[in-house]
Amino acid sequence: MKTITLIVPCYNEEESLPIFYEAVTETIADLPQYAIQLLLINDGSRDNTLQVMRQLASRDKQVQYLSFSRNFGKEAAMYAGFCNARGDYVAVMDADLQDPPSLLPQMIHILETEEYDSVATRRADREGEPPVRSFFARMFYRIINRISDADIMDGARDFRLMKRDMVDAIVAMGEYNRFSKGIFGWVGFRTKWLPYQNVERAAGETKWNFWSLLRYSIDGIVSFSQAPLAIASYMGLLSMIIAFLMVLVVFFRRLIFGDPVAGWASIVCIILFIGGVQLMCMGIIGQYLSKTYMETKHRPHFIISESNGDDVIKIR
Ligand code: UDP
Ligand code: MG
Repeated sequence: MKTITLIVPCYNEEESLPIFYEAVTETIADLPQYAIQLLLINDGSRDNTLQVMRQLASRDKQVQYLSFSRNFGKEAAMYAGFCNARGDYVAVMDADLQDPPSLLPQMIHILETEEYDSVATRRADREGEPPVRSFFARMFYRIINRISDADIMDGARDFRLMKRDMVDAIVAMGEYNRFSKGIFGWVGFRTKWLPYQNVERAAGETKWNFWSLLRYSIDGIVSFSQAPLAIASYMGLLSMIIAFLMVLVVFFRRLIFGDPVAGWASIVCIILFIGGVQLMCMGIIGQYLSKTYMETKHRPHFIISESNGDDVIKIR
């Protein structure tokens, strides 16, 4: 019998988790030919999520939970899930039912019958999203796909079912700055995309706002592309060429026309412009440097302070 692990990162999901559990057990009941385990990750919630998990685990022995010593973020929670998942197939699902469990049977069927290593989901459209956010999201996907070697689908969710080989590849990618949408694409393997209509959260609220999304997208670009560094150096080269031409112009003007004292406006413009470009390029280098700094520290991605079950990887 094949086993399937469903990884569920939870941060303040005391309201959603019981609803999620009901929905999943309903789906699982229709799949008796698989042993399906729930791997709940409590990402340092401040509410009663951990108590809910303990309760579920005491009732149902297919439920395993891992509880972080503090909030490490969804990426760390997913990584802890991948490191501890034992299933032949592994999926990540949000606790808020935005990843409908009803898709699971179809996903399993595709992995069993077709030549794919993973089945991934993406939202079919961006309905119900603020237009500004849609605009930036589209721009982000266009840019990152052009400049990086990870192929990232617009509207991709983290909800996907993968075979063991792909999970092992993801676990082997031990980088500290994790951007899963990129990691899933980077490891390759044959992926089938299932578009579906976006669903609203079952309960509770999203942890994202505009700025955290912007930061997330910059992290994604820095993690999977060196293009900004190249752009910074091209800009340097271009400024140097322009500067050289300007030096010639100034030099010959001086020889031909003498030196009338004028040009305050143009000098100030040039200083401000070059200053801006320099600061921006330093900022780009700084972004990469700060990521490199964090990578070289080799800090653990997560620390688990409580769990049920044995053989748990507690720190990695
Ligand atoms: N999550 C987490 N740690 C965090 C933030 C979120 O484990 O620091 C979980 C959250 O509990 C949920 C999933 O990640 O199960 C997605 O979060 P959310 O619904 O806020 O994001 P969205 O669906 O809006 O992208
Ligand atoms: Mg959500």
